[in-house]
Amino acid sequence: MDLEQAILEAAKTHESFYLYDEAAIVSQCERLKAAFPDLTLLYSVKANPNPQILKTIFAQGIGADAASAGEVMLAQKLGLPETKIYYSAPGKTARDLAKAFGCAHLIADSLDEISRIEKIAAERNTHISIGLRINPDFSFTGETGLPSKFGVDEDAAFRFLRSFESRHVSVAGLHVHLKSQVLDAAALVRCHRKILALAERFEQETGIELSYVNLGSGIGVPYAPEDSPLDLEALGRETCAAIRAFRRKHPKVRFYLESGRFLVGPCGVYAAVVCDRKVSHGKTFVILRSTLGGFFRPSLARLLEAVAPDGGPMACEPLYTGKNAFTITAPGKTGTKREVVTLVGSLCTAADVIAEDIELPRLSVGDVVAVSNAGAYAAALSPMQFSSQDPPAQLVLDRFGKLVET
Ligand SMILES: *Cc1c(COP(=O)(O)O)cnc(C)c1O
Repeated sequence: MDLEQAILEAAKTHESFYLYDEAAIVSQCERLKAAFPDLTLLYSVKANPNPQILKTIFAQGIGADAASAGEVMLAQKLGLPETKIYYSAPGKTARDLAKAFGCAHLIADSLDEISRIEKIAAERNTHISIGLRINPDFSFTGETGLPSKFGVDEDAAFRFLRSFESRHVSVAGLHVHLKSQVLDAAALVRCHRKILALAERFEQETGIELSYVNLGSGIGVPYAPEDSPLDLEALGRETCAAIRAFRRKHPKVRFYLESGRFLVGPCGVYAAVVCDRKVSHGKTFVILRSTLGGFFRPSLARLLEAVAPDGGPMACEPLYTGKNAFTITAPGKTGTKREVVTLVGSLCTAADVIAEDIELPRLSVGDVVAVSNAGAYAAALSPMQFSSQDPPAQLVLDRFGKLVET
């Protein structure tokens, strides 16, 4: 069956659900691999940790970018070896590090964290090679550094590493991630070139031979209909050319690229059935099963736009992407009579509004409404415990056209 048939089928047994399209995820993986033959790819698990999705992506040879010890364990449980899991996050505790030690490649986010790792390695009487996330002396768009809770400022890192000696820890990897959801390929290429120049400085300033450079993410996807897609092929061409030039001098350095949303964001929909409808003071309300609690971002976007009409700087990724980021459709209802409605959810808060005064086919109780761009930062980022409603089901339309519960 196709995606629309699958939504209608799933709506017979589920009042609200996510539906992920496995063939679409595989095709995104293939596009990314084809565009970046010189890099190793990592999937940012926090975008969507659904085990079925992880299996699909890992089966494509893509590793894991884990943002917590829990994500490390998840990737390990699904069969990834230590060498394919990279654990990078601010504020890792000694307990997080002890849990992930030996299961993932650790990327320290502070100098203090390096001492915590060293202590664990000493206790275990072993040696560990780690990476370090750097907050560089440039920003995504500018030539000076900015304060950040992520990573260690470039200068401070170099100063520390010049005199760092340990029997238990060596720092041999560099990680930089500055921005998400970029649609301008040229801007990303410039950022990648700046990271390569940083890698050169790293080696010169510290005397350390890098074993890898992780370029982070940044690869965006079009959300609003008016967004133009990123030119992935041009980005891949330019970045790979810069990497090949770098490797002429440093042949052993491996390169990594992370992506969450590109691999899954466009490959999922959120769907909820119509529970009720009413007209109040001339306005038609269509009430859907639990929307704010099932898929938070559309109602959050409306709230944020009400506070900051230009959409920012109130909020940022991955909570808010931009105006019109979600397209709403009524599967199975094409060609029927249309009407202007306000779509709300069944939670007891006035904030549970996903679209105001939009034109849709006339909906009745039992019909289903689908919201696009629900593959990334959707189920993982919604307050599902609110109001004790059943959480949405999570389903996959597998590559053979079969609907699978996860
Ligand atoms: C969240 C995150 C990503 C993934 O970002 P996307 O925009 O989903 O590709 C990659 N790297 C780091 C360090 C992150 O925190």
